[in-house]
Amino acid sequence: MTAQAAVTPMMAQYLEIKEAHQDALLFYRMGDFYELFFQDAVQAAAALDIALTKRGKHLGEDIAMCGVPVHAAEGYLLTLIRKGFRVAVCEQTEDPAEAKKRGYKAVVRREVVRLVTPGTLTEDTLLEARRNNFLAAWAEIRGEGAVAWADMSTGELGVTGANRAGLGPMLARLAPREVLIRDQVVEDIALIGQIEEAGAVSTTLGAASFDSTAGEDRLKRVFGVATLESFGAFERAEIAALGALADYIELTQKGRLPLLKAPVRETGTGQMRIDAATRRNLELTQALSGGREGTLLQAIDRTLTGAGARLLAMRLAAPLTETTEIARRLDVVSHFVEDPELRDQIRTALAQVPEIERSLSRLVLDRAGPRDLAAIRAGLAQAADLAAVLAEHAGLPEDLAAAGQRLTGHDELVDLLERSLVAEPPLLARDGGFVAPETDDALDEARELRDQGKGVIARMQADYAAETGIESLKIKHNNVLGYFIEVTARHGDTLMAAPFNERFIHRQTLANQIRFTTTDLSEIETRILNAGFRALEIEKRIFGELRQAVLARVSQVGDAARALAELDVAASHADLAIGEDWCRPTVTPDRAFQVEAGRHPVVERALRAEGGGAFIANDCALSGPASGAAPVWLMTGPNMAGKSTFLRQNALIAILAQMGAYVPAKRAEIGVVDQLFSRVGAADDLARGRSTFMVEMVETAAILNQAGPQALVILDEIGRGTATYDGLSIAWATLEHLHEVNQCRGLFATHYHELVALTETLENLSPATVAVREWEGEVIFLHEVKAGAADRSYGVQVAKLAGLPEPVIARARDVLERLESQDREGGAAGLADALPLFSAAPRMAPPTPRESVVEERLASVEPDLLTPREALELLYELKTLTLS
Ligand code: ATP
Repeated sequence: MTAQAAVTPMMAQYLEIKEAHQDALLFYRMGDFYELFFQDAVQAAAALDIALTKRGKHLGEDIAMCGVPVHAAEGYLLTLIRKGFRVAVCEQTEDPAEAKKRGYKAVVRREVVRLVTPGTLTEDTLLEARRNNFLAAWAEIRGEGAVAWADMSTGELGVTGANRAGLGPMLARLAPREVLIRDQVVEDIALIGQIEEAGAVSTTLGAASFDSTAGEDRLKRVFGVATLESFGAFERAEIAALGALADYIELTQKGRLPLLKAPVRETGTGQMRIDAATRRNLELTQALSGGREGTLLQAIDRTLTGAGARLLAMRLAAPLTETTEIARRLDVVSHFVEDPELRDQIRTALAQVPEIERSLSRLVLDRAGPRDLAAIRAGLAQAADLAAVLAEHAGLPEDLAAAGQRLTGHDELVDLLERSLVAEPPLLARDGGFVAPETDDALDEARELRDQGKGVIARMQADYAAETGIESLKIKHNNVLGYFIEVTARHGDTLMAAPFNERFIHRQTLANQIRFTTTDLSEIETRILNAGFRALEIEKRIFGELRQAVLARVSQVGDAARALAELDVAASHADLAIGEDWCRPTVTPDRAFQVEAGRHPVVERALRAEGGGAFIANDCALSGPASGAAPVWLMTGPNMAGKSTFLRQNALIAILAQMGAYVPAKRAEIGVVDQLFSRVGAADDLARGRSTFMVEMVETAAILNQAGPQALVILDEIGRGTATYDGLSIAWATLEHLHEVNQCRGLFATHYHELVALTETLENLSPATVAVREWEGEVIFLHEVKAGAADRSYGVQVAKLAGLPEPVIARARDVLERLESQDREGGAAGLADALPLFSAAPRMAPPTPRESVVEERLASVEPDLLTPREALELLYELKTLTLS
């Protein structure tokens, strides 16, 4: 027999399916397990830390195998997805009994029903409740690029033009899990780098997936429209990107399409442009250390629902530039600020709202359970209550009144779900038990029969026990025998003898028990089973009907869910504004920038948590004329004084204002910022293998090349990463360029005090500093920003605060003094001569002398005990010790 011939039919089936899914781990369903074989098993066993076993042989080699139980599969899937794997889930698609009819060797038919990838998740256990799970696609046609994105779990779908340069910022904003690209760009290291930097995995697809003509047809089919124009005028690249998304979703869901809302086309002018480095630097949604702790998002998130939290994160990631729209959002927040009672009512109700969007999405994909229906029931019921509360109020702002409208109109559906579903349904439809009594007569009847049957069995057991005189006789049930009568071995003989042997039919003998059945018992069993099956069938049918009832209103339910999320975000902003004493900003189309008593929301929170001092509020005035050079503040001041905090707080205030939130200030007037840049000198980027200074320069170049008149630029310690004079020169030229060419509003912090000279020549450059006081050689930080330049940098005092050893501090003071006097006397030339390396040595404490070897030797000598000869020898020995 050849090795090939040894392949079993099952293995042949496995290999065929695996062949079609080479880039994924294949979860091959066998009974209650998903099994993995060969290399898949080796990889999965290592990734999941589960046992690797063997099963038979293939081509003479052992087949490696591991498996996960189906009921616990989601947890394992999550681990694998997090570790960057893709998983093809292969199910049995026919009843094993059917397969047997084809012959005893026939293999049960199996098919891959779904490809699980990071960007296409829908299960709650695989998703994070408070963040979107985006799948993105980037297409490029004749030099024009576009990014499309979809969250399959919520139905969001968007697209915007983005060429190679615009891709990074867009990915940084969306933070997708997976990005689809054409196979031909896979070699493009810079592109792949951008995707990885955004924390996503890249998946390559062939030309056909990105074909814009095919994509257009696909999209028309998905949305059931004759033309895409009803959604807006799309560029070819945008259609290609959207088409690739649709293709990949169809591929991974094996033809089932999730709920996708009509694509929203962003023109790129409606949002503040914030590049990846700025987002990182300002720690908007992710901290420099990774995670949410210490981010602006965490500091402002007081939402009560997952959908609200996701919307808040989306809005924070994409602040608006359209002042009327910003004002409309702010009107809703203001209303909640001014009406605490309404706010409390709304927030109390919101706290009861479950996840609607994701349940809806699972229903569309036919992957839902009874609890998803219950979530929609509860969510819509709360929506109706909220709408009623809003309806009682007159004079609501436009968007709030509109949200109230969108919450209504679901009474019939809620009523149907309330009547048909039990209060707390089980997770899975296949187990039944979720349809409320009195929903369906046939179901009630079948259930009664099934339950009665169980009563009949209990009675039967009592009757048999009485009749046979065997008190311990039991009627039991298992999956192999069904119902059976069980007695101990001792009583078995009684039942096998006359007169009982006529009725009691022997089924099985175990070591201590003997099992029987009777015709009556079999009949009852059949009745129970049939009734149970029937009940389950009816429940499944009802589930399907309820699902259809929800799907018939899918867009209205989705819209209500969205309205709830909007209310949640606005009420969250209001709650924060009241709790933290924030103010409503005014956002204008000009180049105003007037912040009175502004604060840094994250630093203030941290100070409070540490029990530190109060945060000192500071003003910032950068209002500029409609055109020409805008004001730039040149910030000098000691380290640790609060320069970086001040710089960032003003950027954060602009973001908060334009996302439609209140801001941490007494008053704020912000002329729309259309681009925001924030850079810190000397931020390491070891991961990408670029030197600190190189990163600093690349990022500074990006700003100087891009910042337009409506931008806000924040530069912190530019030029720090290189030698003093190079750094100073670069900082000097950068500041000039910013002021003269970019002409945008800016804050420029530096430790090069020499730059203050520029405030004389650059008209709109004003010096500002953070005040400190010196007291008995110690520096006290006042954290107050005021006009003027710092007198000096206090670096040595700060070093002292940090606990540098006293001799080092003393030496540093000395060096500083000499450097400064040298500087005054004619520049830095000859500094090294004036400062011989060890010239301060006399000021150091003299070293404690160590005992010499001669002394040590002498200490061990007892002169009285020495003979004259020994004394002479000792003298020679001491002589050699002194010489060595
Ligand atoms: P360096 O030049 O060393 O980077 P810096 O001047 O930029 O220093 P920051 O990092 O902004 O200083 O601030 C240092 C610390 O001072 C902060 O972590 C915070 O604890 C505190 N601080 C900053 N600003 C304020 C403020 N306005 N009120 C109270 N404390 C503040």
